[in-house]
Amino acid sequence: MKYDVVIIGGGLGGLECGYTLSKCGLGVCVLEQGDALGGCLQTFRRKRMDYDTGFHYVGALDEGQSLRRLFDFFQLMDLPWHKLDKECFDEVDIDGERFNFVMGRENFVKEFSSRFPHQKDELKTYMSVLADVGDNIFKSFDVAEAVDFYQKPAFTRSAYDFLNETISDVKLRKVLAGTSLKMELHANLPLYIYAQINDSFIQSAWRIEGGGQQIADRLADNIRALGGVVRTKARVTELVEEDGQLTRVVVNGEESIEANTFISNAHPVATLDLVKESQVLKKIYRRRIAGIPNSFGMFTANIKLKENSLPYLNRNQYLYEGVDLWDFAHVDTSSQTNAALISYQVPADGSSYAANIDILTPMNWTDVAGWDGTKVMRRGEDYEEFKKRKFQQCVKFAGKYIDGLEDSIEAVYTSTPLTYKDYTATQDGSAYGIKKDYQKLMFTMLTPRTPIPNLLLTGQNLNLHGILGVSMTSFFTCAEILGMDKIKDLLKIK
Ligand SMILES: Cc1cc2nc3c(=O)[nH]c(=O)nc-3n(C[C@H](O)[C@H](O)[C@H](O)COP(=O)(O)OP(=O)(O)OC[C@H]3O[C@@H](n4cnc5c(N)ncnc54)[C@H](O)[C@@H]3O)c2cc1C
Repeated sequence: MKYDVVIIGGGLGGLECGYTLSKCGLGVCVLEQGDALGGCLQTFRRKRMDYDTGFHYVGALDEGQSLRRLFDFFQLMDLPWHKLDKECFDEVDIDGERFNFVMGRENFVKEFSSRFPHQKDELKTYMSVLADVGDNIFKSFDVAEAVDFYQKPAFTRSAYDFLNETISDVKLRKVLAGTSLKMELHANLPLYIYAQINDSFIQSAWRIEGGGQQIADRLADNIRALGGVVRTKARVTELVEEDGQLTRVVVNGEESIEANTFISNAHPVATLDLVKESQVLKKIYRRRIAGIPNSFGMFTANIKLKENSLPYLNRNQYLYEGVDLWDFAHVDTSSQTNAALISYQVPADGSSYAANIDILTPMNWTDVAGWDGTKVMRRGEDYEEFKKRKFQQCVKFAGKYIDGLEDSIEAVYTSTPLTYKDYTATQDGSAYGIKKDYQKLMFTMLTPRTPIPNLLLTGQNLNLHGILGVSMTSFFTCAEILGMDKIKDLLKIK
């Protein structure tokens, strides 16, 4: 059987493309290497409890907001979404002082103006720039319409310069950037990434009760209901090119599947490695893609708590002590932990106590590179010791902000960038994929097209990471097949 489209990877991007194309009547086959779908959305189960691996919360899901329009289309809105506290969805504790991120653009300006009255006008400007990007970014990516695409300030300016030039109070600047462990801040981070992500959460912030796996599983069910095929344990081991076009994929080294078009949700470097022989992929292109740096990885501790030991917090905690938020690449993340995101899972029974929490902290690839090539669960004693030490650092650090944390721990499961590399084929165990650079936008912001005409890319490595970014990007990939007018039609965009 020959499919219209074969999709390599059943992460969010691959599944969303699979759904959109199936909905438009194309014959689709999604191939996921893992035992479970979802990539960074995966949850794992231990002793009857589910733990999130990557994704923890989304923004902009209220009626009329940007992710809502997309999730309505994907039929994901009846999943158990849980809104975080309007008065504080993210708490930022920075160098001993606490600040609340409140929901709603106006409320946000009001809250911070009350803490920094001399910065009221600057805060208004800050918020209006974020809102402009949030409201218009989808259109900006429509290259066909945005003639001056690369000239837009959100693309030609760094987030760092924008903050420095807009906000004069040094402390406020730090605080505003303080919920940014969900991206890697660095001096050349393009403004559009910082603005789009921050704005979406300020609009509204949500957890999902029961974990992110439900998003992936629902998308797969929807694809199957439309006649598409979604398979797990199906690792694509080769993309076969004949006369300058892909003709088939090889699965698990033995089975061939043919298609007219191929979409890869895998990291671009991993994708190109699958094309063993090519007439059109030049060495220089492969080298260019392989040479783009990737964002940092994450160390995650999924903690099962003793019954009724810690109250559930309907907000996230971002904790920092004496750290330069804009330069994690130069922090020795193996020997110190001075930044963490704490996320509480929504209690299944409506209890006021949390059953489990996750501690996430940036981890550079160099910390674990020595164990690259070892197999999951068989990396050796020294790796287990390393993870244990890192976990102890995390608990010591987070324990300063969460009373009784250490005594509340019943069990813990930890993962490192190596875990992500092995489970999702992300390069260098990167959490957020290719590191975009406003000074090298043409090189670091990839389009869905590749030199092979019927091989397209999708996912977080192209334009934007995160659930909203990947969802938007999936439409730009599908537009290469369906046309942008069809996409606008599907999303009811005028
Ligand atoms: C620790 C962490 C925390 C995060 N927290 C948040 C958050 O709170 N909110 C938010 O919005 N975003 C968050 N993100 C980001 C978000 O989860 C990702 O941007 C998004 O899920 C990436 O989706 P993707 O489809 O691009 O890639 P992936 O999820 O990486 O999917 C790629 C898929 O391709 C598969 N694959 C690769 N190679 C092959 C092959 N050869 N054959 C078959 N299959 C293959 C992989 O197994 C994987 O399933 C977080 C990410 C991490 C890592």
